[in-house]
Amino acid sequence: MIPPLPKEELAELVTANHILSRLGVVDAFGHVSLRDPRHAHHFWMSRRVAPGLVGPEDVLPFDGDSNPLVADPPPVYAERFIHGEIYRRSPAVMSVVHSHAPPIIPFGAVPSVPLRPVFHMAGFLITNVPVFEIRDHAGTASDMLVRDRKLGAALADTLGDMPVVLMRGHGATIVGCSVRQAVFRAVYTISNATLQSEALRLGPPNYLTPEEARNAGAGNDKHIDRAWALWACGDNESLVAKPSSHKKLPRSAKQ
Ligand SMILES: [Zn+2]
Repeated sequence: MIPPLPKEELAELVTANHILSRLGVVDAFGHVSLRDPRHAHHFWMSRRVAPGLVGPEDVLPFDGDSNPLVADPPPVYAERFIHGEIYRRSPAVMSVVHSHAPPIIPFGAVPSVPLRPVFHMAGFLITNVPVFEIRDHAGTASDMLVRDRKLGAALADTLGDMPVVLMRGHGATIVGCSVRQAVFRAVYTISNATLQSEALRLGPPNYLTPEEARNAGAGNDKHIDRAWALWACGDNESLVAKPSSHKKLPRSAKQ
């Protein structure tokens, strides 16, 4: 049994679930996890429940093989291997988001049109987003889900060192070096997909160059907390770790 997740990290993960649900990155399906900051081979994720309904009591630890680390575990997400295998392959990844959001689906389904950064807020995409083809690993009769370590490892290999991997006919998986960065990237991956589809209807888009994208992404990374403060607004006050600028001013300072 590993020690409980520190209260602040637990609050961050619960809030991430609620933000992703409110902003349409996930619905009844999809999930977000956090690598244990003290035990790099373990990660934390909710039991099998819609992310918008996740509370602190739903979050449980998993080992490096994506097995729940509690006695008599509740039902857990079938696709937890996405998380475990990405953490195994990529030591810098601290958080993983898995989404089935509709705007990203066309870019996994149409091989001739890769998802690319069409606006600065998605600069982190840098260039063409890789696409995971489950048929290459599970044949033509799978149910499309990443249900075991083998498929999770194949997905992690396709992701490589990129921030996002599309999954043909299924969705996308997005990673970050913090929960906040993974959530930020997930939100703007969906926005970019929506905008790119709009642009493609007008004509051939003029995409960001890799250099423009890299610079924009680096700049945006400095302001992730600003977005988080807005998106977390309205979440349970006792759960949300707000930046210092959002703390109530002492009475004397209000005058
Ligand atoms: Zn899925």
